[in-house]
Amino acid sequence: MNASAAPTAGTVNGGISFWYAGRPLPAPREPLPGDTGADVCIVGGGYTGLWTAYYLKKAAPFLRITVLEQKFCGYGASGRNGGWLYNGIAGRDRYAKLHGKEAAVRLQEAMNATVTEVVQVAAAEGIEADIHQGGVLEVAYTPAQLARLKAFHEAELAYGEMDRLLLGARETAGRIRIAGAVGSSWTPHGARVHPVKLVTGLSRVVEDLGVTIHESTPVTEIRPKHAVTPYGTVRAPYILRCTEGFTAALKGEKRSWLPMNSSMIATEPLTDEQWEHIGWAGRETLGDMAHAYMYAQRTADGRIALGGRGVPYRFGSKTDNDGRTQPATVEALREILVRFFPALAGVRIDHAWSGVLGVPRDWCATVTLDRSTGLGWAGGYVGSGVATANLAGRTLRDLVQQDSGQAGTTDLTELPWVNHKVRKWEPEPARWIGVHGLYAAYRAADRREASSHAAATDRLARFADRLSGR
Ligand SMILES: Cc1cc2nc3c(=O)[nH]c(=O)nc-3n(C[C@H](O)[C@H](O)[C@H](O)COP(=O)(O)OP(=O)(O)OC[C@H]3O[C@@H](n4cnc5c(N)ncnc54)[C@H](O)[C@@H]3O)c2cc1C
Repeated sequence: MNASAAPTAGTVNGGISFWYAGRPLPAPREPLPGDTGADVCIVGGGYTGLWTAYYLKKAAPFLRITVLEQKFCGYGASGRNGGWLYNGIAGRDRYAKLHGKEAAVRLQEAMNATVTEVVQVAAAEGIEADIHQGGVLEVAYTPAQLARLKAFHEAELAYGEMDRLLLGARETAGRIRIAGAVGSSWTPHGARVHPVKLVTGLSRVVEDLGVTIHESTPVTEIRPKHAVTPYGTVRAPYILRCTEGFTAALKGEKRSWLPMNSSMIATEPLTDEQWEHIGWAGRETLGDMAHAYMYAQRTADGRIALGGRGVPYRFGSKTDNDGRTQPATVEALREILVRFFPALAGVRIDHAWSGVLGVPRDWCATVTLDRSTGLGWAGGYVGSGVATANLAGRTLRDLVQQDSGQAGTTDLTELPWVNHKVRKWEPEPARWIGVHGLYAAYRAADRREASSHAAATDRLARFADRLSGR
């Protein structure tokens, strides 16, 4: 560490993400050469598209499967995320209300098993993705956060997660020494991953199985049995849309899933003394109970990669700038880092980046196959997509097999998130004003909770929760 330089003086901003730093960006595979046919066409080469291709091809090796990717596999959130492979799924509580608690418990159990599934498949397929199954530690550092943490912990137990631990201040510090942490909740159902190693490994495995991947091939329109690109059209009985945060750019989908930004920073590698001071020997993925929450991991090469919301949403559902984020966001994330670990105040921030994730109007992840059109999709994971995309891939496999008469109903096709319908987002400018207002309220609530030391969740946050339809 150079103590005299400003921590962000040499920060690389963008370049897709830190996970690509030190390696060349993947050379894109050949684009679609012209009109063609397939049995299944998958749009999008992230975790969702690639897991779907993987499981379908494994189940039915004779299927002709084509993946169309606008840039390269791992260009989207799957190549930019925080590497929390964990059992959270967006919308579980709503699904409990809609379909009953038992159905939501089944969904939760499927998510718990999904973490193990990804770890095991990666090992079996030789995907080396720096996976460390250290669980997830979520901490509280204000009285209001502690009250939410305890309620959250109880709720998770009620969904059958009996192996979860509630830790006090001292036990929390025994795992990770975070300034002012008053308690935490730990679940074993989580692992740290290197996102890019996972997605590029998966694309290699899928291709080796015989799936055709065309990159640099943007799909401009999806309609029944057709995926249209500037280079030709793929005709297939099943067209599966796996474009998550980018979905709004597709014709007819502008208001389906809101592209929410999330930004991250990665520090320089910390010294042994710094790690000695912090602890974190268990490599848990780390989060907090703030309304504008943070998420972090200890990377395999000894850095802290830490993320949060930054500017949450760009007007008109705009998405990408190859991962660049605003300098103010970099500074805000650095402040969170220092708030957690004051001794890291001078530590260099090597990289900053951002990406988009998909948020449905009711904040519920879903996986769907419309049997009348053969159109399918999965996503709306609201920032919990690393594991959920795997469950989605296996479920799309089952739905396609069920529809084509190769299989019947399965446990996965009966999960409550299957074929869930949701209304569209409001038109602009209401959408922009709403989302920015929401996050301004959450940030203000966090500040008020920190300064007031009140034990109850701030009313601004409660109001924002009601307004957002969460
Ligand atoms: C910064 C950040 C941090 C995150 N951290 C976590 C985390 O720690 N844990 C967690 O569980 N979740 C996290 N998430 C969310 C998670 O990464 C995503 O939900 C998940 O990767 C989504 O995978 P996907 O394949 O559905 O979408 P993506 O990975 O976004 O893939 C979609 C692909 O579709 C392609 N595409 C889009 N439109 C078209 C088109 N028209 N034609 C052809 N191709 C197209 C894109 O280029 C992209 O490659 C994070 C997200 C971000 C942005």
